[in-house]
Amino acid sequence: MIASAGNPASPAAGKPIICIDAGHQGKGNNDKEPIAPGSKTMKPKVSSGTRGIATGKPEYKLTLEVALKLEKALADDYKVVMIRRSNEVNITNRERAIRCNNAEADLVLRIHADGSDNKSVQGMSFLYPSAKSRYTRDIAQESLAAAKVLSEAILRETAAKSKGLIPRDDLTGFNWSKVPSVLIEMGFMTNRKEDRLLSTPEYQDKIVKGIKAGLDLYFNPG
Ligand SMILES: [Zn+2]
Repeated sequence: MIASAGNPASPAAGKPIICIDAGHQGKGNNDKEPIAPGSKTMKPKVSSGTRGIATGKPEYKLTLEVALKLEKALADDYKVVMIRRSNEVNITNRERAIRCNNAEADLVLRIHADGSDNKSVQGMSFLYPSAKSRYTRDIAQESLAAAKVLSEAILRETAAKSKGLIPRDDLTGFNWSKVPSVLIEMGFMTNRKEDRLLSTPEYQDKIVKGIKAGLDLYFNPG
């Protein structure tokens, strides 16, 4: 059974289970996997992600840096399940979702950074599974509710520009998920200023603090 985040767990019921998925990995895997259970649409198992235009840092390194800080920050109040703690892994997006399903996560946090051909674009986006997709409609409402609370808390902490809450029906990691999921695009690594900022420990700490504050509000409202 999957705990409902809309009905927050009492302390007796144990700590909420958070599955942290640091996006991408050291080596992308361009073999294909179905985008959803039973779907004929195929996508690469793990794309290689974007890269910092100023720092040269690949997205997979940045996402792991933040994920490891987040793991520490959540350790006392949550049961944390890490999809990866190293860059030398080969775990497809479908497998990541299934691991979080099997962990009966109350929420999956997928940590990513963005890229664009337009170097002036910056800001954070909060992606959640679409209510219109038959694969994700059962988790859409709770995912959106979590995304809203998280986005407000993170934006308050970081003062980042917001690109808003964005429903998606084309992400393998969402379509295979049976538990609420939110994907945080922390900023644009193709924007020189934001790329540098994303790699500073101070800014990473703000992101982590914002995520923790959002989770605390979501799982213990009031
Ligand atoms: Zn990414």
